[in-house]
Amino acid sequence: MDLSKLNEILAGQPTYRAGQIKEAVYRLSVADWDEAIGLPRELRQQLKEKCPLNINAELFVSGGGNSQKAVVRLTDGLKIEAVLMCHDNRNTVCVSSQAGCPMACSFCATGKMGFKRNLAVGEIVEQVLLFVRALKKEGQRVTNVVFMGMGEPFLNYDNVMAAIKVLNDQKGLNIGGRHISISTCGVIEGIEKLIDEPLQVNLAVSLHAPNNRLRSRLMPVNNKYPINDIMKSVLRYVKNTNRRVMFEYIMIDGINDSEDCARELAELIRSRLPLKLAFVNLIYYNPTGIYNTSLPKRVKMFKTILMQAGVEATERYRFGREINAACGQLATEAKSEKE
Ligand code: SF4
Repeated sequence: MDLSKLNEILAGQPTYRAGQIKEAVYRLSVADWDEAIGLPRELRQQLKEKCPLNINAELFVSGGGNSQKAVVRLTDGLKIEAVLMCHDNRNTVCVSSQAGCPMACSFCATGKMGFKRNLAVGEIVEQVLLFVRALKKEGQRVTNVVFMGMGEPFLNYDNVMAAIKVLNDQKGLNIGGRHISISTCGVIEGIEKLIDEPLQVNLAVSLHAPNNRLRSRLMPVNNKYPINDIMKSVLRYVKNTNRRVMFEYIMIDGINDSEDCARELAELIRSRLPLKLAFVNLIYYNPTGIYNTSLPKRVKMFKTILMQAGVEATERYRFGREINAACGQLATEAKSEKE
């Protein structure tokens, strides 16, 4: 999909056409301009030639059918991925904000790809639109969007926020701000900017370790943004917005899943934040070669220690493991094919 020439086409049109086109693309989510029957035929022809609506993607469906992964080929040949997860009447799309990622987290396949480039606004929005169109055929809609795919959203802050405005537009996709979450590995400048955003989107922070020694080993970005600084920024965020922050914690066997880690994490959160404004999401790790995922009984033990310390904790379902619906796995394979 490429709407970059839309303004050029609209230049000779009545002003209300922009609204009609937006409605067709987003609210009605047409996949072909011929379906936009409210537009004159000549205009539709121009749009077909200059603003293609097709999204170049390959879909992979999980065996259980509760998740689908899309590998989207961008116009310059790069591939990114988005994942749809369906459960509890929620249809959540996990989108990418960058092709590759410069953060080089040791557990992440996307990190191993290195950084290619930031995604444009349209390239972020089309990942959601792809699943909006697919779900429409089943009489369903996308209910939630999470920026937890490839890349660090706060390194592409302006485009991510512009895309969120498109997703949130009541006359368009109409996905409520409280149903949109941005996940950061701790880019403090981004957290600080988010405090002042009028849109009520949720913040998630990938912590993955309770102390600097372990976190720096897993996430080199911790050398730039250590835990202490992140916690100070998160405290400002929760105080100013009164919104809860989610800490993501992938459970890696024998690395960060000990009882001591659980107690240290509980103490970190208890001592730094109001308990009602923070919770931990324990995530079963999708192995990408180096590490293994923790056993379920260890995840439960970890959760129990947090809960007993008064820190709310949840476990994230393991969606789409068999279709490599983890951070950048297939994109990494695609890259090797290309080279
Ligand atoms: S985990 Fe997120 S921030 Fe870290 S390398 Fe992967 S995509 Fe980048």
